[in-house]
Formats: sequence, structure tokens, C-alpha cells
Amino acid sequence: MQPEPSEHLTIRALLADAERSLVEGPHAERARRDAETLLLHAKKEDVPDVNRAWLITHGYETLPAHAAADFRAWVERRRAGEPIQYITGEAEFYGLSFKVSRAVLIPRPETEHLVEKVIELARGFERPRIADIGTGSGAIAMALGNHLPDAIIYATDISAQALGVARANARRLGFETRVLLRAGDLLAPLAGKHFDLVVSNPPYVPDNERDLLAAEVREYEPAEALFAGADGLDVYRRLIPAAIGALFHKRYLALEIGFGQKQAVEDLLAGAGFKGIEFTSDLQGIPRVAIARRD
Ligand code: SAM
Ligand code: GLN
Repeated sequence: MQPEPSEHLTIRALLADAERSLVEGPHAERARRDAETLLLHAKKEDVPDVNRAWLITHGYETLPAHAAADFRAWVERRRAGEPIQYITGEAEFYGLSFKVSRAVLIPRPETEHLVEKVIELARGFERPRIADIGTGSGAIAMALGNHLPDAIIYATDISAQALGVARANARRLGFETRVLLRAGDLLAPLAGKHFDLVVSNPPYVPDNERDLLAAEVREYEPAEALFAGADGLDVYRRLIPAAIGALFHKRYLALEIGFGQKQAVEDLLAGAGFKGIEFTSDLQGIPRVAIARRD
């Protein structure tokens, strides 16, 4: 193969090519930003603290051919619709950077509302005991751990692969001894334990709404993290009655819920004996977080 003329390897030229390619993909409006994110990721190996300002002032530097080749391969994946977080292997959530792979859901900004509510409630308790059910990357458990330094946090997931990602995050973020990861179905791995707060963002998408999901979600994210039966309520149906038995008296269950599920979840909570049921809406005004108290 001919060596590449080095002007093609300047950061400026690589970004311009990538932008031209990405405007033809499904996220044209984010083409420039995505190109920059991927370029920064390519550069991170030798310059760990690069940022967007660095790109502007270093446009005439060149990337080594192997880094440029990686960069172009990532741009292709992005153009094909892959979420950028799976390409870089990183996602931001509640101010922390989590490792992600296709074994886990990419943590969502909506889920920050759930974390915020739980932090508020947990501040009322000394050494709060918390369980995060269906932890995925560990995003909720570790965001809570970061803001509640004396909390004791257990986190479960049915997927061994997801727990592997959560374990890597626990190591990276220094939560190995404070977030205790357990494999199994819902609360089963925590049998006999009691909590001040049970928290969960479970799968809640109805099976028949698969085609309504963004292609990025449908084609790349793990189905077992998303779908929960015909009406999307299958996990809540089992989790809600199990949670009441795992809570101390006057303590709380906090759930993320999907679009249009408020009434059904309220009925399930009330049916299981929960009191003080309240909902908080997300930035789009959609009821997103359910809080309920065990008597
Ligand atoms: N908590 C993470 C977050 O908010 O980003 C991931 C949420 S994802 C919507 C749901 C998670 O629940 C997935 O990681 C999936 O593997 C896990 N899960 C699905 N069914 C489960 C079950 N029966 N028991 C435990 N975890 C389950
Ligand atoms: N909010 C996710 C979505 O984008 C669904 C996550 C879940 O099922 N908990 O569809």
C-alpha cells in the first residue's frame, strides 16, 4: 500500500472528511460534534486530557496512520447508526464517566431524575441501605454511591455480561467495596436483606413497540434491558410485590417508568399495599419517576 500523503492525516482534514461522511448518516445534525468526539477518543491514548478547544488549536497536527485508520473505522460505524457511546465505550451519567458495551443499556439523561429523587430521600437516613435492581452498567448504583458516601449499596442484574461491565466500572470508579454486585433475578440474590430504598430502572418497553423505538436503540441496545411483555409491565408486576417485602417499614421504592404507564404503575403499587405514591415528571413533562412508601 502507498504511504498516505500526510496532509490527509492532519486533524483538520480528518475532521472535515468525517463530517462530510457523517452528514449522510442518520444524525446529520450532530455530524461535526460526533466527528470531534471520535477524534478526541483517537487522541486520548497519548494525550489523556484533550478537549474540544485542543482540537481547534492543533488542527495542523497529524495523527499516526494507525490512529487515523481507527478513527475512520469509527466514523463508518457511526455513519451506519451505532450509538457513539458503544464506539467510544464510554457514557456520561450524573457527572461520572461509565464504561459501556453492547451488553448494557446506555444510561439515559431521564434516569438522572430517579437518582436525584433517591439522593433526596436517602439524605434523611443514616447509613442508608440501598438496592439497585437491574443495574446494567452500574450507573444508578455508583451515581448514588458518589453522592451518599455512607450508603451501603447492593446492585443486581440477571445478565452476567452486564454485571461484568458494572464490575469494571466499580473498579475504575473506586466502588469495589461500596457497591456490592450480585447476579440473579430481581431481588432474589438479596433474599433475607432489608433496605431503606429499593431503586430500579427496569425494562419497561412493550414488546410490540419495538418498531417505534429509534433504530439506534432497537438495533444496538440489549433487548433484555428494554422489553417487558405485551404491556411493558411484566417486570413491575413481579418487582413491586417483591420490593415491599424487602423494605423496612416507612421506607421507599423508587422506579423509573415509561410513557403512559403512570396509572398502571400506580394501581400495581397501591395493590401491593404501598402508600404515599407520588410521580415526578421529566424535562418533557412525562411522568418518569414513581416513589412509594411501605407503611
Ligand atoms: N440501571 C441501568 C440504567 O438505568 O442505565 C440499566 C437499566 S436497563 C433499562 C434494565 C436492566 O435490567 C438491564 O441491565 C437488564 O439486564 C436487567 N434485567 C432485566 N431483567 C432482569 C431481571 N429479571 N432481574 C434482574 N435484572 C434484570
Ligand atoms: N428509556 C429507554 C428507551 O429509550 C427504555 C429503558 C427501559 O426500558 N427502562 O426506550
